[in-house]
Amino acid sequence: MHSHSPIKRRVSRKIHVGNVAVGGDAPISVQSMTNTDTNDVAATVAQIKRLEDAGADIVRVSVPDMDAAEAFGRIKQQSNIPLVADIHFDYKIALRVAELGVDCLRINPGNIGREDRVRAVVSAARDNGIPIRIGVNAGSLEKDLQKKYGEPTPAALVESAMRHIDHLDRLDFQDFKVSVKASDVFMAVAAYRDLAARIEQPLHLGITEAGGLRSGTVKSSIGLGMLLMDGIGDTIRVSLAADPVEEIKVGFDMLKSLKLRAKGINFIACPSCSRQNFDVIKTMNELETRLEDVMTPLNVSVIGCVVNGPGEAKETDVGLTGGSPANLVYLDGKPASKLTNDTLVDDLERLIRDKVAEKEAREADTIIRQS
Ligand code: SF4
Repeated sequence: MHSHSPIKRRVSRKIHVGNVAVGGDAPISVQSMTNTDTNDVAATVAQIKRLEDAGADIVRVSVPDMDAAEAFGRIKQQSNIPLVADIHFDYKIALRVAELGVDCLRINPGNIGREDRVRAVVSAARDNGIPIRIGVNAGSLEKDLQKKYGEPTPAALVESAMRHIDHLDRLDFQDFKVSVKASDVFMAVAAYRDLAARIEQPLHLGITEAGGLRSGTVKSSIGLGMLLMDGIGDTIRVSLAADPVEEIKVGFDMLKSLKLRAKGINFIACPSCSRQNFDVIKTMNELETRLEDVMTPLNVSVIGCVVNGPGEAKETDVGLTGGSPANLVYLDGKPASKLTNDTLVDDLERLIRDKVAEKEAREADTIIRQS
């Protein structure tokens, strides 16, 4: 198995959202958005914690009014990962959350209104080292662009983005990232490709309102997959009408599939058939759930029989091949031990956790030697 991705990433300017670098040579970050009431500080903090535990790099929180801005300040104090405040129109909210320690402002400069207000927001961002995300969405294009193009098109999305960018350019503010989202895969992909060729800033990818857990995952994977294959994209958000934790999991699975980022266990499993010597589907699902907490990258193969088992196992850290009367486990590609079906999941979990611990110890050792 090739451990490195053959994808050549577009070279973008690096910005920082709190302590997370976005763009340049930074790993593609995975983000989500809370769907709690921002005024419910405890619930929002708890959801951010769940997202953090799932591996989220950045979390966005909607800040619709000044009360929510104050709540945001308290949420920020109780959270460990960078938070983006999602603001529409009201520049005062942006100024307030900038004082309260926000890590990134999602606000479209063209929607702020008077020039002095735009200037105030940009100054607050500059003084506090806060980047801005320009977020264009096919569902909320400016009236005149809707008229000019008749309907949302990739060109309309890009024109809208370039307008917002112009506001920042005029104030010589370059610390921003941009998204041009649409729920239509073709439209989003075309808009991002066009924008990627025009600016040097990092791009935040997303297929907006993609759908429910299954349909949204498929739509997002196809849309984001095409762009990521092109080397486009510095941070991603999968929009699902589902628990936001699922967005993080799907985001990482996408990056793992393209070898753009390694986190947790990369499972290789066969679909199973009548040749299987243990219940592949049940074993696979059980392991995936039990090992959700693992963040160390590891390749694990779970294959029902000898047709493909030994071949896959050779390429993985832990490989299981179904066999009768016992299944065979490979460690680092070499046959290591036999496992019977009655305690298969428990035994396999233990072996995988041992391998994770071994890998972590080796990495800690390397860090000590290097320092
Ligand atoms: S690896 Fe074996 S059990 Fe799995 S699908 Fe192929 S033939 Fe069936």
